[in-house]
Amino acid sequence: MSEIICNQKRYHLENIYCIGRNYSEHIKELNHTPDDEIVVFTKPNTSIHFEEIPVQLPSFSNNIHYECEIVILIGEDILEAPIKNPLKYIAGYALGIDMTARDIQKIEIEKGLPWLKSKGFKQSALISKFISPEKISNPNNIYFELSLNQKTVQVGESCHMIYSIPTIIQSIHKIYGLKKGDIIYTGTPKGVGQLHSNDILELNLEKGLLKATFTIA
Ligand code: MG
Repeated sequence: MSEIICNQKRYHLENIYCIGRNYSEHIKELNHTPDDEIVVFTKPNTSIHFEEIPVQLPSFSNNIHYECEIVILIGEDILEAPIKNPLKYIAGYALGIDMTARDIQKIEIEKGLPWLKSKGFKQSALISKFISPEKISNPNNIYFELSLNQKTVQVGESCHMIYSIPTIIQSIHKIYGLKKGDIIYTGTPKGVGQLHSNDILELNLEKGLLKATFTIA
């Protein structure tokens, strides 16, 4: 079982939830249409991958995309419904890459199949270290960037999310429940693209507050 450390506390990683189609410019770049309700999917918790070891791309796909996203950690079991103050359950913030086998996802979408293979393979949930929520002055205005081989490819601001972080927590909890150790990938802005061997991904939250680097094997 993977463990997350945040603010010197240890959390067993439980569920990995992800929000799809949460930035309108990204919906346009993939030629998707906006959905009537929030798009939620999960990855197995075996898909988590931390910074130290180079990322192995899966052999079953010829088109693995990066999607840089703000990730939140739920710090306690949520028992109230509806939730009055969703932000109080956030134990930490991180940046992550929702690795996506775009060629496989295209087939799944066409056939109406689940996204498990395209989104949930081993090492598909790249994750930085977590920082304390006290370091985030306004969760509705978080700035983040991704560079690929030293070129900026994604710039995101949480104020441009279709579903805000509090709304995401409320929506997931309402249907699925949320507990201590769950993490949530909150969706990607525009600029997604393909990864290749030896690529270097550098993630940057709030202009240096949190940085992470991932290398593709
Ligand atoms: Mg994503």
